[in-house]
Amino acid sequence: MNMPIDPANLAVDGPLYAARRKVYSQSVSGTFRNVKWGLMAFCLSVYYLLPFVRWDRGPHAPSQAVLVDFPNSRFYFFFIELWPQEVYYFTGLLIVAAMALFLMNAIGGRIWCGYLCPQTVWTDLFYAVERLVEGDRRERIRKDKARFSLRRAGELTTKHALWLLIAWWTGGAWVLYFADAPTLVKELATFQAPFVAYLWIGILTFTTYTLAGFMREQVCTYMCPWPRIQAALTDEWALNVTYRYDRGEPRTSAKKADDLRAKGLPAGDCVDCAQCVAVCPTGIDIRNGAQLECIMCGLCIDACDNVMTKLGRPPSLIAYDNDINIKRRLEGKADIYRLVRPRTIIYAAIIAVVGAIMLYTLATRSLLDINVLHDRNPLAVKLSDGSVRNAYTVRFLNKQSHYRTVVLDIEGLPAARVQVVGSDAATEGRPYIALGPDKTTEMRVLVTVPPGAQLDKSTAVHFRVTDTDVRESAAARDHFILP
Ligand code: SF4
Ligand code: SF4
Repeated sequence: MNMPIDPANLAVDGPLYAARRKVYSQSVSGTFRNVKWGLMAFCLSVYYLLPFVRWDRGPHAPSQAVLVDFPNSRFYFFFIELWPQEVYYFTGLLIVAAMALFLMNAIGGRIWCGYLCPQTVWTDLFYAVERLVEGDRRERIRKDKARFSLRRAGELTTKHALWLLIAWWTGGAWVLYFADAPTLVKELATFQAPFVAYLWIGILTFTTYTLAGFMREQVCTYMCPWPRIQAALTDEWALNVTYRYDRGEPRTSAKKADDLRAKGLPAGDCVDCAQCVAVCPTGIDIRNGAQLECIMCGLCIDACDNVMTKLGRPPSLIAYDNDINIKRRLEGKADIYRLVRPRTIIYAAIIAVVGAIMLYTLATRSLLDINVLHDRNPLAVKLSDGSVRNAYTVRFLNKQSHYRTVVLDIEGLPAARVQVVGSDAATEGRPYIALGPDKTTEMRVLVTVPPGAQLDKSTAVHFRVTDTDVRESAAARDHFILP
């Protein structure tokens, strides 16, 4: 029998939804802040400028270093050009990226979240604009509480205009990866670009403005799956941003701490100034221990180090550390760090092996390829003189950025005559075909065996295409069928 649910019991777990508490993160200076500025400048420069970097691939291929060429089904990345058949390289790339993320997590927790994730980088940028226009934490809190004025309206208009400008440029940069950037910029400026380009710019302007301007830490806390995944992946040796409570507690003001120590009573180094909370972009108190909301950005470390320096106490009351060391220090033992352990070795080894395989296959891959499709109906035709003919659709792939001439051989049918429809050119009975640069060429190929040839009902044959100039060849297998 089902028992009735007592609503009073439900309240014990608290509400399933909590309204957002606006975070007024304060500016801070220090090592981790500088690292974040440096990485932000690097990531944004790469994102905004990369489409304009040129890479000479000859007259028949685009000269944009990084380009996703949908109309021609190509992906260009500096010296690498990938065709649709080579999509498995992306699988390798995804494996390497996932393992790199796991490795970062095993070494330093959510380094990705704190320093490199686009949500963090753009939110940081939007915070910087907000501080520039509206002032630092206290000023922003005061202004939000004050009566609305014309001056305030001007500030808010300026802030949102700058945010929209950044968001618009972010969307604009995105579409430049899908067409020749300088040409597309001109087309966009003169309203001659394809509609889909404007549509994507609009979508990305909206998402950037919303996610970085308004949703901010909520994306990390509620929308992104990585915090949950990383919580399952981490272990006790990973170095996370940690409040060293062994040193900080019992927290008390600097003056009281001095008095307590003078009396021989314990006093921690934490002076309860809440600077670590004020600078936190997710608005949490790291002194409450590890929390899902913490993106491990290290800004609370900078804030606390500044306080400790002013007080003449050693820095690193908050630091990249783990609970093992806290317990060891409480027991009077020395710190111990294990960056090299089975999981970091396994992640690094997978990255190295998959990376090496990808590099090797890229360096040795053939720039010439062939695909063969046997005619379905009829499978074979008996000619009036008794010979038998099979027809195939053969696709030649020239991945070079220049013209080349190739010859076609059929292996497995010694007496067969090979004819390429539309190409009479041949030397010593071998048809040769001109292939355009960076192109797929499809041709009909007729293979005929003389009357009385001793063949099985179905004979395996290989179509071999060879560029005799560079001794490069490729082959595809099919069958020759008797009627
Ligand atoms: S608690 Fe510290 S490391 Fe974590 S998000 Fe806040 S400032 Fe960054
Ligand atoms: S900044 Fe340092 S001293 Fe101040 S409250 Fe945070 S942990 Fe304590």
